[in-house]
Amino acid sequence: MGAVEIVDSVWLVGSGTQPDALTDPHDCHCYLIWDGADGLLVDTGTGLGAQTWLANVAEVCDPGALAGAVVTHYHADHAGGAAAAGAVGLPVIASAETGAALSSGDESRTSLAAARAAGIYPPGYRLSPVTVDRVVGDGDTVHAGRLAVEIVAAPGHCDGHLVVLARVAGRDILFGGDCLFAGGRVSMQAIHDCRLDRYAETVVALAGRDVDVLLPGHGEPVLRDAGTEIREAADSFRRLVPPPNVLTG
Ligand SMILES: [Zn+2]
Repeated sequence: MGAVEIVDSVWLVGSGTQPDALTDPHDCHCYLIWDGADGLLVDTGTGLGAQTWLANVAEVCDPGALAGAVVTHYHADHAGGAAAAGAVGLPVIASAETGAALSSGDESRTSLAAARAAGIYPPGYRLSPVTVDRVVGDGDTVHAGRLAVEIVAAPGHCDGHLVVLARVAGRDILFGGDCLFAGGRVSMQAIHDCRLDRYAETVVALAGRDVDVLLPGHGEPVLRDAGTEIREAADSFRRLVPPPNVLTG
């Protein structure tokens, strides 16, 4: 187990499925951008594998040198580790909606209670409350030394979802959270704040951006020409047909 370099200067440092970066089976993919001097984390897993995750980060860089951890959305598999990031002094960066939910570990707003009842998380799992240090919104820039990443609001999968666009080592990379997946798939669940109309707007807007690499929150990365797959998803939404759902295969 350890950190797995996916593309130049970007590592997978946590995952529920990638054997070489496995932290906890319930975790999303957690990414580290590190240019040799500065960097940033994207998503934090459930927290169940937080010590392994932080050890994987430390294989690449001093975690204390990082500008923070961006949490794409408040679902527990992405946000549960934010408290662990905060505990080691990493600023937690998230949307206002995510910040509001995480401040109290709100199990309704985050759909954790429903997901736990559905067997997605262990019975005793709880979301550790954490205070978001920096609230970000659409169009904001997060700086980490020479790195500058763009925050893009991306609701649809859930409220307050954001994605990260970053130009790293000459590649235009979309850190997609649970918004977009390989094959132009999306993630739709029967939860209170999964909104197809907002999802369509989000994906159509993202199809207009230059994206070479898609690093999703689950599943396989798209390492070249990811924009083609995003445009396919947008074209489907334009026909009022939801793209394939990653949760149904
Ligand atoms: Zn999610």
